[in-house]
Amino acid sequence: MGLKYGKQNTVISLLCGLMLVLALLVAIDARHPHFYMTGEQVMEAEQGQPFEDPGVYAVMSGRIFGDSSRRLPVEVSGSVNPDVPGDYVLRYRTHFFFRDYTCTRTVEVRDRTAPVIVLYQRDGYQVSWLDGYMEEGYRAEDNIDGDLTAQVRSEETADGIVYTVSDRAGNTTAVLRQPNYTIARPEIYLTGGDELYVKAGFQFGDPGYLAIDRLGNDMTAWVQCEGKVIPYRVGTYELSYSITNAQGQTVRAVRTVTVEPQQIAGTIEPEEKTIYLTFDDGPGPYTEQLLKVLDRNDVKATFFVTAAEPRYLPVIAKAYRAGHKIGVHSYGHDYDRIYASEEAFFEDFLKIQDIILQQTGSYTDILRFPGGSSNTISSVSPDIMTLLTDEVRSLGYQYFDWDVLSGDAGETSHTSEVVRNVIEGIEGLPEGEAAIVLQHDNRRFSVDAVEKIIQWGKENGYTFRSLDCTSPPAHFNLAN
Ligand code: ZN
Repeated sequence: MGLKYGKQNTVISLLCGLMLVLALLVAIDARHPHFYMTGEQVMEAEQGQPFEDPGVYAVMSGRIFGDSSRRLPVEVSGSVNPDVPGDYVLRYRTHFFFRDYTCTRTVEVRDRTAPVIVLYQRDGYQVSWLDGYMEEGYRAEDNIDGDLTAQVRSEETADGIVYTVSDRAGNTTAVLRQPNYTIARPEIYLTGGDELYVKAGFQFGDPGYLAIDRLGNDMTAWVQCEGKVIPYRVGTYELSYSITNAQGQTVRAVRTVTVEPQQIAGTIEPEEKTIYLTFDDGPGPYTEQLLKVLDRNDVKATFFVTAAEPRYLPVIAKAYRAGHKIGVHSYGHDYDRIYASEEAFFEDFLKIQDIILQQTGSYTDILRFPGGSSNTISSVSPDIMTLLTDEVRSLGYQYFDWDVLSGDAGETSHTSEVVRNVIEGIEGLPEGEAAIVLQHDNRRFSVDAVEKIIQWGKENGYTFRSLDCTSPPAHFNLAN
C-alpha cells in the first residue's frame, strides 16, 4: 500500500516538474507575431508609374522554437497615389491574443525622371563661329510636365552649344551640340595668368594672350583689348580681352593687374646740426666755380639738375665724381608743359633721368618738383601734385622741398642778402630741424654767397651733407 502510494506520488512529482519546465520554456520563448517585409522600409516610387506594394507577411516567432510555418492574417491600411508626389505611409496590422501588432512602410513618390531633349540637324550645314550659328531646332519633352521646348536655354561654350532644361521637380537635362564648325568658338588664354602683380614703373608690358578654338584655329588677331594700366599709379586695373562674332556673342577673358609700390627707404634724422645745401636749375655757367668752392671747403651738396643749358651738361658728371648728389629737377622746366598731365610730367622726368644716366652711369633716386610740391602753378591739372607726390614715392623716389629760402629766385640779387637770408633762415628753424637750403646755381650772385654760408655754418657747429633718399625731406603741405 505504502509502495503504491509512493509510486503515485512520484508520477505527480514528475508531471509537476515537466509542467514547470514547459512553462519555463514557453516564458523564455516569448512567442509573438513577427513581420517580414519584402523590399525596403522606406521605398522610392516614380511619379506617374504604377506602384505595387511588395507586401509583408507575419508569422508567430519565438526565441527557442523559432518561426511557425503558418502565416497570420495581415490587414493593410493606407494607400499610395503614384500620380501625386508625396510621402505615403502603409500600415500593416495583425492580431494575437487580444493585442494588435503593426509595422509601417513609407513610400516616397517623386518625379525623378529628367526631361529629354532631341536636337534636329540640317544636312550639310557648315558654320563659322565668327558668322554665328543658325539654330537647327530642338524639342524637349518631360514625362510629367509634357512639352518643355519653350523652357530650353542654350549657351555657347568652347565645346559647342549646351542646351539645358529642368522640369518642375528640378530634374535637369543638358545636351551638347557640336555643329559642323569650320571655325569654332575660341577660348582666350592669358599668358601670365588672370592676376598679375607688378611693381610701380614707367611702363606696363602686357604678357600677351592667345585665342584658339578646339579645332586649332588661331584667332588671336580678332582679340579686342580694353582697359589700361597706369604703371606709375598704385592700384588694381582690369584688362578685358574679347572677340565678338556677327551675332553679338562675345568670348571674353579678364585680367586684373595690381600695381604695387616700390620699397622706399625710411627717413633717418641726422643726429648732429646739419645743413643740406641744394642747388636747382643748373648746371650753368657758374656751376664749375661752385664745385671749386665746395671742394675747397670739403663740403658735399646736392644738385637738382635740368637740361636748360645743354653745353654745361658734362658738369653733372664732374659734380657726381666730386661726391655730390645729383637729383632730378626737370628736363625742360616748363611749368605749363610738365604739369599738363601725369604722362607729360613723367615724360620730362625720364628725359632728365636719361641725361643723368649718361653723365653719371646710373639713375638717381631723388627729385625736387619744379616750384616745390606745394606749387599752385600746376593747378591747370587739378590735384596733380597730390597724384605725383604719391606716384614718385610709389616708383621708389623721394622728393625734397626745402625749409630755408635764400631769396635768390627774385626777392634779391645781392650776394650779401642771400647770405643773410640763409643764415637767418637756418637760425629761425625749430630746434633739431635739419636745414635744407634752396639756392640756384645758374645765378652768379647766389653762387658767390656759398663760401660765406659754409664759413658761418662751420663756425656755428654745423655739418654739411648731401641729400640721399633717407634724408629728412622737408615736405610742404600740398596745395593742388
Ligand atoms: Zn627750378
